[in-house]
Amino acid sequence: MKTIKLLTLLMIATIFTISCDKDENLLDENVEQKVTSLEETDLSITSKDQKYRNFKLITDNKTPANAISYVKQRIDQLYASGLKNSSITKMTKVKSIYLATDIGFRDLLYEPFNQRVVMNDYNQFVKDNRNINFVIHELAHFYEHKHLSQKQKNTLKALMANARKKKIYPNSAKVMQGRSEYLATSVEAYFAKGSTKRHPFNRKTIQQKDPQMAQFIKANF
Ligand SMILES: [Zn+2]
Repeated sequence: MKTIKLLTLLMIATIFTISCDKDENLLDENVEQKVTSLEETDLSITSKDQKYRNFKLITDNKTPANAISYVKQRIDQLYASGLKNSSITKMTKVKSIYLATDIGFRDLLYEPFNQRVVMNDYNQFVKDNRNINFVIHELAHFYEHKHLSQKQKNTLKALMANARKKKIYPNSAKVMQGRSEYLATSVEAYFAKGSTKRHPFNRKTIQQKDPQMAQFIKANF
């Protein structure tokens, strides 16, 4: 009887030791896997530059391929839009079109501090790309920031006040949300292929409803 008890105890001890070893091994494997996946995560957010027709695009492994190809299509369209070569050259001076994810926010905007266009809110971009030319819109913000004189900015401000006074566009429209949006949204429509989905929609509308703005864009872009 004693021998059986002893044997049982020995067996339990042996099983315990084996399972402990197993757990330790499992633990080690888990740790290794965690370390590996951390390294993989780090690798996946490493951004890389690529040049596309004189614009620098910054992407990373999380940038969807369709977002990159839509930006390239919009850049092609920019070159074919009737913008003066000198204006396109000025737009290429933007630091980058930033399509990577490692900056702590997702948006579609021009960032004056970094002088870059951020295009990493892929959901909105891909959803609205067909109807809104975000690339030319944000580049128009850069253009205003870096290439318009104070005198030209004052002219713009007066033109916008005039448009507001004449109620050319609804007050709630993006194009009426300040001088910068007035310019960028008008430029976006003026150089659109067809029509955009927001006021002023296209060049013809600007020429008919806001002819002084049409002249301003023609003269400066
Ligand atoms: Zn804008």
